[in-house]
Amino acid sequence: MLQVQLPDGSIVDHDDHATALDVANKIGQRLAKAVIAAKIEDRIVDATRPLAELTDLRPVPLRLLTEKDPEALGVLRHSCAHVMARAVMRLYNGVSLAFGPTIDNGYYYDFELPHKLSEDDFEKIEKEMAKVVELAEPFEQFSLPRDKAVALCQDLSQSLKVEHIQTGLADHPELGFYRQGEFIDLCRGPHIPDAGKIKAFKLMSVAGAYWKGDAKGKQLQRLYGTAWFSPKDQQAYLSQIEEAKRRDHRVLGKKMGLFQVTPEVGGGLCLWLPKGARVRVLLEDFLRKELMRRGYEPVYSPHIGRVEMYETSGHFPYYRDSQFPPLFVHSAGGLVDAWIDRLKSDEPFSSDDERQLSDAAGVLGVELPDYNPVSSKPQRIGVLEAWQHQHERYLLKPMNCPHHCQMFKAQPRSYKQLPLRLMEFGTVYRYEQTGELNGMLRVRGLTQDDAHIFCTPDQVEGEFRTTIELVKFVLESVGLMDYRVQLSLRDPASDKYVGSEENWQKAEAALRKVLDASGLSYEAAEGEAAFYGPKADFMVRDCIGRQWQLGTVQLDYTLPERFKLEYVGADNAMHRPVMIHRAPFGSMERFVGMLIEHFAGAFPLWLAPEQVRILPLSEKSNDYAYELEARFLAAGLRVSTDARGAKVQAKIRDAQLELIPYMAVVGPKEQEAGALALRDRIEGDLGAMPVDQALQKLLDEVNQRTIRQVARTESTSGPSELSVSGTANFEY
Ligand SMILES: [Zn+2]
Ligand SMILES: [Zn+2]
Repeated sequence: MLQVQLPDGSIVDHDDHATALDVANKIGQRLAKAVIAAKIEDRIVDATRPLAELTDLRPVPLRLLTEKDPEALGVLRHSCAHVMARAVMRLYNGVSLAFGPTIDNGYYYDFELPHKLSEDDFEKIEKEMAKVVELAEPFEQFSLPRDKAVALCQDLSQSLKVEHIQTGLADHPELGFYRQGEFIDLCRGPHIPDAGKIKAFKLMSVAGAYWKGDAKGKQLQRLYGTAWFSPKDQQAYLSQIEEAKRRDHRVLGKKMGLFQVTPEVGGGLCLWLPKGARVRVLLEDFLRKELMRRGYEPVYSPHIGRVEMYETSGHFPYYRDSQFPPLFVHSAGGLVDAWIDRLKSDEPFSSDDERQLSDAAGVLGVELPDYNPVSSKPQRIGVLEAWQHQHERYLLKPMNCPHHCQMFKAQPRSYKQLPLRLMEFGTVYRYEQTGELNGMLRVRGLTQDDAHIFCTPDQVEGEFRTTIELVKFVLESVGLMDYRVQLSLRDPASDKYVGSEENWQKAEAALRKVLDASGLSYEAAEGEAAFYGPKADFMVRDCIGRQWQLGTVQLDYTLPERFKLEYVGADNAMHRPVMIHRAPFGSMERFVGMLIEHFAGAFPLWLAPEQVRILPLSEKSNDYAYELEARFLAAGLRVSTDARGAKVQAKIRDAQLELIPYMAVVGPKEQEAGALALRDRIEGDLGAMPVDQALQKLLDEVNQRTIRQVARTESTSGPSELSVSGTANFEY
C-alpha cells in the first residue's frame, strides 16, 4: 500500500506501483487526461513512473501538473525537443545528438550532422514532427548502469553522448534514458506522458554552436523551436515576436539618432549620439543625485589596471576568455604569454616549437638566463612568469570592484566610517563573441551604474535591505512596475566558487532573510550565483511581456579577503569588511536599450531627448516661436523650433513621427494673447493656454516623472507564461 498526500492535505491509498497518472485517474478521468507531469516537493517528475521509484517520502507529497502550471510548459518543450531530434534523425543521415535543453519560450537541440540545416528545411522537419505528434506515442523511461549505458550509446552511434557519460557524468553510477518509438535519448527527464500533448510547435531558427560551448571544440548546428499547449498561445507568442521587431532598439536607435555601432569603431562599441546621450545623462543625473542623498560617495577610476591586481581579485585568469587580451608594454609580452599557455596546456609542445619561441623572444630583446629547456614544466613556467612580473601588463577594466577595493585601502579604516559606499559610472570591457553581440544589449564596452558598499558583518542585512529598496525605487521611477527577484545561489555540487563554506552559508542566509521580510516575490535559483557570492537579480517584465534581467545586488565575502581589506573594530582589533556590489540599472547600454524597446521609442516626458517642439503657423510667427523657445529652455526643458516654411500640418506630422511628447503651435492670435496652442502627442489638441500655464503643466509632469505613454498595441497580451526565465534545464 502506498499513501499519497495531495496539496489539499488529503491522503489517499494506492497500490505499490501507482503512478501520478493513477492518482489522477482515481480523482477523475478528465484530470487524468490533463496531467502533463507531477511534482514531488521541488522536483518535477514523470506522471507515468511508479511513485515509489521516484521518492522515499511517505506519504508521497504529490502535486499534479496540468497545462495551467508554468512548470508543465518546460516539460512539454523538452519533450518537443526530443520530437524534433527524432524528426531530424529520420530525415538526415549521420546525426550525432549533443544537448537539447529548454530555454525561454522554447528549446533547442544541438546536432552534429553532415547536412547543413537551413530555414528551407524547416517545413520538412515540421511535417515529420507533426507525424510523430499525431502518433502520440508514450515517452518511456529506463535506466542503465554506466557500462551498459555506454554500450547502448555506442550501438546508437551517439559518440557525443558516450563522451558526455565518460566525462561530464563520470560520477553517475546509473544513467537515465527515454525511448519514444525508435528514438532513444540519454536524458534526465521528465517528459510528458505522450507526444499527443504537444498542441502547437514551430521551428524558429538555426545557428552554429560548439560542443560544450568550447570554441575550440566540435562545430555543431543548433536548431531552435517553440512549443505550446494551444495554437492560440503560440500565435500570441509569435505576435509578441513581431511586436518586438517593431520595437527593436537597433532599428529605433538608428531612426531616432540615439546610438550607433559601426565597423569603423568596432563591434559592440556603442557611440552614444546626442539624443541617446541626453537620455543617458538624465538617467545618470537622476541616479547620482539619489545615491548622494543616500550616503554614497562618487569616485572615478581609470579604464585599465595592472594584470596583477586582477590576479589578486581573481578576475584574471578566471574570466580570461571573456576579456580583451592584456596590454603588454614590452613588445614580447604577448609572445611570452603564449609560451606560458603552451607549457600549461596538455597539447604537444615539441623542443622545436620551444626553440623557435625562445629565438623569437631573443630577437625581441627578452633575456632569460635561467630558462632551461630540460627542467620541469613548472620550473620553466616559473622563469617565464618571473619575467612577466618584471614587465608591465595591463587589462582593460573587466570590473570596477578591484579599483574600489584599492580606494578602501587608501587609508586606515575604522568601524565608525562604515559603511563606506563608493559609486562610479564605471566603463568596463568584455570580449563578447562576435555572434553574441546585439545592439546595446550585448556589447564589448559597457558602463555600469556601479557601487560598492564596504560594511561590517552586522551591517550587511541593513545595507542589503536599503539597496533592494533603492533598486525598487529606481525601476519604478522609469515605470517598470512589473518585476520579481531571482535569488541566485550556488550549486553546492560545483567547484567553480571561491570562498569558504561558512561565508557562503552566512551570505545566502542574510539575503533570504531580507527578501523574506521585503514582501517581494522571489524565487531561488541554484547554480546562478557569481563565483564570489550569492546575488539577487531583478527580473523586469516589459510592456509586451518579455523578461529582462536588470538590477543586481551581490554579496561578496571573497574580494575583501583577497585584497586583505581591514578596519579597526569597536574592540580595537582588525576585522574584515563585507562588500556589496550593486547596480540598479545594470549597465547604461543595456538599460537604455531595454527602455527604447519598452517605450517603443516614445520616452516619458522626463526622459525624452526632445520634450517640446514649437511650431510657428507661418514665418511671421518665427520670432515669437524663438522667444518661447528661450523661455522653455530657461525653464530647463529640452525644446526646438520648426521654423521651416512648411505647412503646420506637415510640422505636426513630423513631430508625431519623431515621438516628441508635446507640440506648441503658435500664430498671431497666440502671440497677441501671450499664449500657445498645446498639442499632446497622444491626446492631440489641448487648446490654447497662457505660456506660464503650459510651462507649469510640463514641469509638473517632469518633476513627478509621470509615465503615461507606454505604447501598447492590440496584439501584445500574450499568455502569462511568456519569457519565464531560469526554466529548468532537463539535460544532464
Ligand atoms: Zn532529453
Ligand atoms: Zn563589483
